[in-house]
Amino acid sequence: MIYLDNQASSPCDPRVLDAMAPYWQRLYGNPHSIEHGRGLMLAGKVEEARGQVAGAIGADPREIIFTSGATEANNLAIKGAALFAHKHSGKAGAERRKILTFATEHKCVLQSAKAMSDFGFETIVLPVGHDGLADWDAYQAALDEQVLLVSTMAVNNETGVIQPIARLAEAAKAVGAKFHCDAAQALGKIPLDVGTLGVDLLSLSGHKAYGPMGIGALYVRRRPRMRLEPLFSGGGQERELRAGTLPLPLVVGLGKAAELAAQEQAQDAARLGVWQRACLEVITRRGNLMRVNGSLEQRIAHNLNISFLKLDREAMLRAWTGFAVSSGSACSAADVEPSYVLTSMGVDPSEAQCSLRLSFGRQTRDEDIKQVLAVLDSPSLAGSSE
Ligand SMILES: *Cc1c(COP(=O)(O)O)cnc(C)c1O
Repeated sequence: MIYLDNQASSPCDPRVLDAMAPYWQRLYGNPHSIEHGRGLMLAGKVEEARGQVAGAIGADPREIIFTSGATEANNLAIKGAALFAHKHSGKAGAERRKILTFATEHKCVLQSAKAMSDFGFETIVLPVGHDGLADWDAYQAALDEQVLLVSTMAVNNETGVIQPIARLAEAAKAVGAKFHCDAAQALGKIPLDVGTLGVDLLSLSGHKAYGPMGIGALYVRRRPRMRLEPLFSGGGQERELRAGTLPLPLVVGLGKAAELAAQEQAQDAARLGVWQRACLEVITRRGNLMRVNGSLEQRIAHNLNISFLKLDREAMLRAWTGFAVSSGSACSAADVEPSYVLTSMGVDPSEAQCSLRLSFGRQTRDEDIKQVLAVLDSPSLAGSSE
């Protein structure tokens, strides 16, 4: 089996596993029990990992809050910002009550924003173009002094399209709105620097970047200070923003994964970019049989989302036997509803249903991609007409 589903989850890097190994058993303990030496040592490890995560995105370690993953980080960013504003709002109607986001965001962003309607917030879901990029005119028209928060992903999990975060964030700042970026798919794939991007909040996930599952982080800007209401009640960990005992081995693993992501981003992207161009050559040559969804310019090197024009779903899946690939988002794999990400880009629903995401990773071997090229060039993609 050739694993091409790295955007659903990437394998733990062996160096991450090595870094975590001592803390499951030999060096066990609670990093919050700082009245003894072991606890103090583990607390030091937490801070070391916090520094590694901060370093990977150009942040101050005090700006990193560990969470259980990007889903929780996105919930904390959006709901935390809205609930804080709600709690401290003055006269009715005088406050910022709008949340802007885009149609191709991850479900956890869309649902978190919409859930805030219970507290009087209006969520505006903005369109994207056929290339998957944010519709700039619609965004400009929606931005005003009533916008509390804008939430946009850096890299799309289905199409690999890269949004112009710095430009979007600058426009939000111009009307006094805060900006959240879901960077779950960006860490290790594109350069990430919170200062350059100009964001107030940024979400990360361990298992999308060769780290462990069950851990992520939220960057929360200190200057100017981004204020959030915590979602959990408890022991006041993580600067009172995220209660709960930190899962120390996972924290150590995320730190190592983030460090590797920053170090190896450029070389991973360069290697996979060569293969992506080789695939695109075949796809272009056989353009009557298949097409790539999403911008060809603004995309990561690790993704190809392809619609097969002459095949039905079964024939498409047959052609890709032996490959672990995604034909819809993991959450809704059982039903065959066309992907909302593709349909909101204006991809025809029948074409959207006959599409696959190939996502390549650090562990993907050159021989694996040669096999992808063989399938892309094979007669089986031509359907029954040939
Ligand atoms: C996977 C993913 C998430 C959710 O991350 P978890 O750590 O699995 O909760 C959020 N946003 C995007 C873009 C993702 O790809």
